[in-house]
Amino acid sequence: MRIQVDPTKCQGSGECIRICPQGAISMRGDVAFIDMSKCDFDGICIPACPHGAIFFADEA
Ligand code: SF4
Repeated sequence: MRIQVDPTKCQGSGECIRICPQGAISMRGDVAFIDMSKCDFDGICIPACPHGAIFFADEA
């Protein structure tokens, strides 16, 4: 399991960055980037995104 950002939906508003308790999210250009080495998969950022850009995805 991993958390992903859909770059076609991310608007760079930064709500996920502010809410992540692990400090795992930062911006890479105009799109949020989640550092999997910091993420604890609590899923807090998913409902925090007003654009529905963050989601759980099975590891490929
Ligand atoms: S799932 Fe939790 S720890 Fe991981 S990026 Fe989202 S808010 Fe941060």
